[in-house]
Amino acid sequence: MQIPAPFDYVRATTVENALELLARHGPESRVIAGGHSLIPMMKLRLSRPEWLIDINDLFELDFILRDGGELRIGALTRHSTLLESDEIARLFPIVRDAELVIADPVVRNRGTIGGSLCQADPAEDLSTVCDVLGAVAVVRGPGGERSLAMQDFHRGPYQTAVGQDELLCEVRIPIKARSGSAYEKVERRVGDWAVGAAGASVTLAEDGSIADAAVGLTALGLEHTITEAAGLLRGKRPAEELFADAGRLAAEACDPVADQRGPVDYKRHLADELTRRVLRQACARAAQPAAQTQEG
Ligand SMILES: Cc1cc2nc3c(=O)[nH]c(=O)nc-3n(C[C@H](O)[C@H](O)[C@H](O)COP(=O)(O)OP(=O)(O)OC[C@H]3O[C@@H](n4cnc5c(N)ncnc54)[C@H](O)[C@@H]3O)c2cc1C
Repeated sequence: MQIPAPFDYVRATTVENALELLARHGPESRVIAGGHSLIPMMKLRLSRPEWLIDINDLFELDFILRDGGELRIGALTRHSTLLESDEIARLFPIVRDAELVIADPVVRNRGTIGGSLCQADPAEDLSTVCDVLGAVAVVRGPGGERSLAMQDFHRGPYQTAVGQDELLCEVRIPIKARSGSAYEKVERRVGDWAVGAAGASVTLAEDGSIADAAVGLTALGLEHTITEAAGLLRGKRPAEELFADAGRLAAEACDPVADQRGPVDYKRHLADELTRRVLRQACARAAQPAAQTQEG
């Protein structure tokens, strides 16, 4: 049986209290949210915190709130809450697409968006989702609050810009009219991590052409959106040939590694095919009447 190294445990009562506890217990302390990434790492002794600071009582970080032109999602919001939110499904269908294929109900009932983003596993789904939606991460620490674009939040596999003495508090996503988004993942069996996945967000101009777009991949050797995709798509009418060009671009831009989930060629094929599919779906959703008037 795998057992973590010994540790002490304390429950934070407020965000301020959590920050005090992080400062008091220093570099060997770690925040625990859903625990579905941290506890397995501790059991494998890949992580050996001396203090666990439990933030599950911080209900102030558990919210989904429309605020002007943004949707604000608290860091402690569970996967299951994101999956069940009709507002999220209407504004950002990509989130529900992703949540439907993240693990299983047991994991989704505990795992949080904050823990997912902070874990920064290259196969984790919500990072790509937040990236293509242009989300901003709000982080608090001893020096106050700062906002980070996803490109600045993620520093590489399992690395983020959140300091040991800081807390990710919320994610803010801009709401845009005439926008659609989609996520599609290939997994070996239901609930597994991605062999490969793609996410896209598209905003249409009034004449139906693409005003802006973002495409990102999961588990395929790319940490951020494919910057060339926006240039390729912008100003063009949604069409199969365009989606095919974007798919080829994604296959070239990605840098997958061969592993037990498949060889490099297969993963490049996934990048191509999944990019086409999510762009087709995102454009179709952006053209639906419900997507026309979503500005805050
Ligand atoms: C069997 C299984 C299958 C899974 N499949 C998938 C999958 O297909 N796709 C997917 O995306 N994920 C998957 N996951 C991961 C799941 O989504 C977890 O919920 C997620 O990785 C971590 O969320 P958590 O709340 O459990 O974080 P925790 O495990 O509590 O924490 C993870 C890390 O984030 C830090 N942290 C947590 N919250 C904060 C915060 N607010 N501020 C600063 N640091 C913080 C912790 O200190 C820790 O380092 C799976 C997990 C399991 C166990």
